[in-house]
Order: sequence, then C-alpha cells, then structure tokens
Amino acid sequence: MKTVGELINSKGAEVQSISPDNSVYEAVQKMAEYGIGALLVMEGDKVIGILSERDYARKVILQNRGSKTTKVSEIMTTNVNYAEPDHSVEQCMSLMTEKRFRHLPVMDGDKVVGMLSIGDLVKEVISEQQSTIEMLEKYITA
Ligand code: AMP
Repeated sequence: MKTVGELINSKGAEVQSISPDNSVYEAVQKMAEYGIGALLVMEGDKVIGILSERDYARKVILQNRGSKTTKVSEIMTTNVNYAEPDHSVEQCMSLMTEKRFRHLPVMDGDKVVGMLSIGDLVKEVISEQQSTIEMLEKYITA
C-alpha cells in the first residue's frame, strides 16, 4: 500500500487555507469555489486550526449565528491531527475512522505538504484492490 507521501505526489500538494480573521461566509465561499469540504486555518506559515462544512452546519446554522459576522477563529477546531509523509494510507484511514473526521493535513516537520480527504484514501484503496484482482485473474487464467 502507498505511503501518504506517494499519494500526495500523485494527487498534488495544493492545500487551500484561510485566515482566522476571515468570516465563515468567506470560508464557505472558498470551499464551494474549490469543491472541497475543509480548509486549513493558517496564520502565515503556521497551522492554527481546521474548519470543515460540519463546523458551519453545527456551530453557525444550528446555533443561529450569522456567517458574515462569525469569524473562522470562533468555530474552527484547534487541535489539528495530521499525517506525515511516511505514514501509510491504512494508518490515515484508521485515524479518520477512530476520530470521526474526513480530512487530514500532511505535515513534513513544520511544513504543510498536502491535504487528504477520506475520498482520496477510499479511491486509493479501491484502485489497489482493483490491481490485485486483475493480477489474480491473470494468474488464474494463465
Ligand atoms: P469533517 O468530517 O472533516 O468534516 O470534520 C468533522 C469535525 O472534525 C469538524 O469539527 C472539523 O473541524 C474537525 N476536523 C476535521 N479534520 C480534522 C483533523 N485533521 N484534525 C482535527 N479535527 C478535524
């Protein structure tokens, strides 16, 4: 199974982020623009939180707050779990399952080098299983 570093190399290292002082409205706009479900919250080069659509649903809509008057910093999750390039895809999936979130930034030391979603990981697992099936089929029919 691929490492996180190999997966980031094939998927791309682009990470979308937002500042803690931006409004939640601007964050949701950015997620919609890029077709993604979470943003890293960065102060310069430093990761200080993560914000997902789930934070918006639960901490803004359900609590009757205004998305234009609520700052990202007010609803972000500050204790960010991350993966490292030498971690395996399986390790990431079990962390996401255990902690019940669907996004995992990839950090190489202090540097953000990518972002994985549960969709990226599921896609990778399916593709590896497909290769195994094709190899076994060739073996059986040979
Ligand atoms: P998600 O399933 O990714 O939409 O996120 C569900 C909740 O977990 C939200 O409150 C997110 O802010 C939080 N969250 C998402 N990813 C992470 C992560 N890597 N580390 C810590 N919290 C996270």
